[in-house]
Amino acid sequence: MATELLQVEDVSKRFRVRGRTLHAVEKVSFKLSPGKTLGLVGESGSGKSTLGRLALRLLGVDEGRVLFQGRDITQLSNKQLRPLRKDMQMIFQDPQASLNARMTVGRAIEEGLIIHGIGSKSDRKERVYRVLERVGLPFEASYAYPHELSGGQLQRVGIARALAVGPKLVVCDEPVSALDVSIQIQVINLLQELQQELGLAYIFIAHNLAVVEYLSDEIAVLYLGNVVEQAPAEELFKKPSHPYTQTLMKSVLKIPEPGSEEQSLSHIQGEIPSPFSPPSGCSFHPRCPFAEDICKRKKPEPHMVGTGHLVACHLAN
Ligand code: SF4
Repeated sequence: MATELLQVEDVSKRFRVRGRTLHAVEKVSFKLSPGKTLGLVGESGSGKSTLGRLALRLLGVDEGRVLFQGRDITQLSNKQLRPLRKDMQMIFQDPQASLNARMTVGRAIEEGLIIHGIGSKSDRKERVYRVLERVGLPFEASYAYPHELSGGQLQRVGIARALAVGPKLVVCDEPVSALDVSIQIQVINLLQELQQELGLAYIFIAHNLAVVEYLSDEIAVLYLGNVVEQAPAEELFKKPSHPYTQTLMKSVLKIPEPGSEEQSLSHIQGEIPSPFSPPSGCSFHPRCPFAEDICKRKKPEPHMVGTGHLVACHLAN
């Protein structure tokens, strides 16, 4: 009997764009247990958001399998997936964009409950008040429209909407990157409290490795759709073994303090190559300070360098 909540096995996804093939995700595998967090980190264009959507089956999978609570959901139709949707929710980077400007906050949260047939009208109203209170908003917020709330309040609404239906798995797609630094910490702490209280599993997507470290049990580092390093969070920070991970660590060393400037990935030399034509061999070789001849010719296979610590680099051992 599977104890894993989610298993992603050798999953690939490509998109056809104007006759060209975009390699978004290549043969990625991971497992996630109830109450645990997998952090997905990488630059924009690394495939982390696509991977989050594949895990929820919001996108079709080209190759590989996705299992939820031991059940293979790879080929399920949208209709077949509908009963599972309340168990698998998403928190978006821009909550305003995901809310209807003409719908009150209370109605937006209640909508999910109606779709999933949860509660009577009065039960639902009660549930909306309770979830708003749980994310730190007064019940009056139920009657507000999105434009009347701040960015931090809107993200709390986004979290409330995801949690109202009682999910088991939540994909948090850069949920704090659009927020002021002081609000980021509050939202991260809230997500952590809710996880402990409700036993939620998170896939937490971010470009800031420090934010991911704070919340994650395990971290996967993505580069051009490939996982280049994956390890328990503590191990990854103690022994970052892929040159890309090492560079990410130099770029972003800590969760920003309130009032400080947002940190960037400026230490990484060069641009991320086009996913339409990834470089030969190791796709990081044009930017890697340690690249050797073999790196241009041969793609490195992921191999173990420690307990549960996978690295795809010819030089890592
Ligand atoms: Fe750098 Fe080569 Fe390792 Fe790729 S395989 S990360 S190019 S050393």
